[in-house]
Amino acid sequence: MLLSLARTIPRSAANGPGQRFVIWVQGCAIRCPGCWNPDTWAFETRQLRDTAAIADEILATVGIEGVTFTGGEPFHQAAALVDVACRVRAAGLSVFVFTGYDLHELTRPDHRELLALTDVLVSGRYVQSQRSFESEWRGSTNQGVHFMTALYSEASMAESAHVEFHLAPDGQLAVTGFPVPQLLDLAPARENLS
Ligand code: SF4
Repeated sequence: MLLSLARTIPRSAANGPGQRFVIWVQGCAIRCPGCWNPDTWAFETRQLRDTAAIADEILATVGIEGVTFTGGEPFHQAAALVDVACRVRAAGLSVFVFTGYDLHELTRPDHRELLALTDVLVSGRYVQSQRSFESEWRGSTNQGVHFMTALYSEASMAESAHVEFHLAPDGQLAVTGFPVPQLLDLAPARENLS
């Protein structure tokens, strides 16, 4: 099965609890004004990865406690992510998902399958006027944080960094997490990975 993605980071502490492998999927039809990742909106091919191969890459990453699916819109590719989630959960890793949909909109069978494999779901449109600088894991305060299993709780938010900078070998600076605007201004060459 193939997964269309924009990028990955093998280890991040700013996209859910603990150290996590993060997958930004490619393609989002929701298109929230002010979205931090408009480069992930287009349904174009940037990286097409076999789900078994990306699961193997995740499982070969030492020291992570789970995987985070973000984007782009993960539920547009729910079936492929179900395959990844099944494989990593079988190895004891947790699954964290950011979606622009509200929980009640996720009604398709493949949506339900992915929800059943998810430990934490952050749901809802990003609303620029309600941007959050306080609540970890939410881009805006209208969004919901759902603990789908007993693995994590609100206390787990303390295990999450607020923001991270990633410096690539080519000198490109990338920002991920929930930075305040002043911090973004300090990184003019950044690629936003939030
Ligand atoms: S915030 Fe998420 S749901 Fe909204 S446009 Fe951006 S990628 Fe899509």
